[in-house]
Amino acid sequence: MTDDPTDVVVIGAGLSGIAAVIALRRAGFDDVVVLEKSARTGGTWRDNTYPGCGCDVPAMLYEYSFAPHAWRRCFASRSEILDYLRATAADHGVDEAVRHGVEVLEARWDATAHRWTLRTTAGTRTTRSVIVATGPWHHPRYPDIPGLDAFPGPVFHSARWNHDVDLTGRRVVVIGTGASAVQFVPEIQPEAAHVEVFQSTPQWVLPKPDYALPSPLHRHPVVRRVLRGQHHWTQEAIGLLLRHPRLLPPLEAVARLHLRASVHDPALRAALTPRYRFGARRIIASDAYYPALTRPNVRLHPTRAASVRGHDVIGADGTRARADVVVLATGFHVGAVPFALYGADGTALARTWERDRRAYLGTSVSGFPNLFLLPGPNLFSGTTAVPTAVEAQLHHIVRALIHLRAGGFTSLDVRPEVQDAHHATLQAALRTTVYNTADGSGYYFGLPGVNTFCWPWSTGRLVRRLRSFAPDAYTWSTPPRRAESAAFLSRTAGDHCRKE
Ligand SMILES: Cc1cc2nc3c(=O)[nH]c(=O)nc-3n(C[C@H](O)[C@H](O)[C@H](O)COP(=O)(O)OP(=O)(O)OC[C@H]3O[C@@H](n4cnc5c(N)ncnc54)[C@H](O)[C@@H]3O)c2cc1C
Repeated sequence: MTDDPTDVVVIGAGLSGIAAVIALRRAGFDDVVVLEKSARTGGTWRDNTYPGCGCDVPAMLYEYSFAPHAWRRCFASRSEILDYLRATAADHGVDEAVRHGVEVLEARWDATAHRWTLRTTAGTRTTRSVIVATGPWHHPRYPDIPGLDAFPGPVFHSARWNHDVDLTGRRVVVIGTGASAVQFVPEIQPEAAHVEVFQSTPQWVLPKPDYALPSPLHRHPVVRRVLRGQHHWTQEAIGLLLRHPRLLPPLEAVARLHLRASVHDPALRAALTPRYRFGARRIIASDAYYPALTRPNVRLHPTRAASVRGHDVIGADGTRARADVVVLATGFHVGAVPFALYGADGTALARTWERDRRAYLGTSVSGFPNLFLLPGPNLFSGTTAVPTAVEAQLHHIVRALIHLRAGGFTSLDVRPEVQDAHHATLQAALRTTVYNTADGSGYYFGLPGVNTFCWPWSTGRLVRRLRSFAPDAYTWSTPPRRAESAAFLSRTAGDHCRKE
């Protein structure tokens, strides 16, 4: 273990980790190391290789503001996003900062030395600050279905697609109908003998206005700005409706019309009709999903998969589906604490979050100094593209780190009362949004009855809040032995610094 701590360690080299290195370097932080457990960068877009995987927000909103890209289609495919992320990382010299094959197992705050000690698969390392960019959608959720372990054929999760398994002429059972299933079911339907889909909750599915962007005109900066603006304001308009559910009926009518136009069988249509409000779960767009379900070799079971016996997957309603292959489209442990994380008083974040998951602006957690979650809880409206939120967070994080350095401090910790006030306001605002109208299930609810995912205001407001950094929200301090000299430095650093 070295005594000389790294200035900032970023954990994870996905979209967020790459953006973090670029933002830090631009602000003059050169001593930055990224620890990435995998052999390649790319995160989500590296891991999810299922057929049809792609972005479900317009690609022009799914790019870094500092690296505009000439996307081939309105909605980008997984491979195009992955290429884009890797090219951006290479162009900005991020790759040199990444230590691949290093998984962080534990992080512990040293309250005496004011630094983090990271235990990794490659040994121990210390750092002054940590950015946790391990991805909210990184850990696949495997269902607990009796008998599934003994299934006599291949079983895999959509996020870990097994490309060695040829689905041609096979009977495939799909468990789950979230965003991933909506993308891959239409892709596997033509080749499989049968596809049987177990659906515990129907989804609202909007038409997907996808189109090729071949024209050089679309690459023109002005045209791009107009298109980007149009996508942004469409998303913000939908977000407005989601915050005021009484305005939602027109959008629900569009989704119902889409279903009616695609599915003519009334029984199938009824099974596909959600019994909760539009937007209470993640919004999905597809022109291919409903038609795929009407094909003769596809059957929808509007019930959860309750058990597996031999080759049969058995629904809670008693229906059976014979399978050669089972694909689990059962989502992720969204927002789970990625490794053992111990704060100032030795408390484990996972333990705190078992009963209470909160963070100031989805970024800082009181009692976990010099640590930033990228992204953390309650940051996304139903229509926020992840890069927008992440870049706004980075603005906040970089300002915090500059303040730390300029003030001669060694530790910053969000004040508990500031975090609690933010949490209370946010949860109160969520109450009137559509996000809180479902039955408390789905990944918006990381804790029973508590929405730990959504931001109840506009994306514009999120960006403004994160960009207006308020030093008073934090406590700034130095280790006891350095307090005296820091008192002098803080006087010279000026503005609103606060000391313990
Ligand atoms: C199928 C799918 C479709 C999606 N579609 C959209 C979309 O349309 N629009 C949208 O805005 N978002 C979408 N998302 C969300 C998507 O995850 C984010 O947009 C974005 O890619 C998150 O980037 P990230 O860097 O935060 O996390 P990730 O991309 O998950 O990267 C995290 C990285 O951290 C590494 N890591 C994890 N734990 C450790 C550890 N302990 N030690 C070291 N390294 C670690 C991982 O290997 C990974 O490389 C989708 C997600 C999925 C799964």
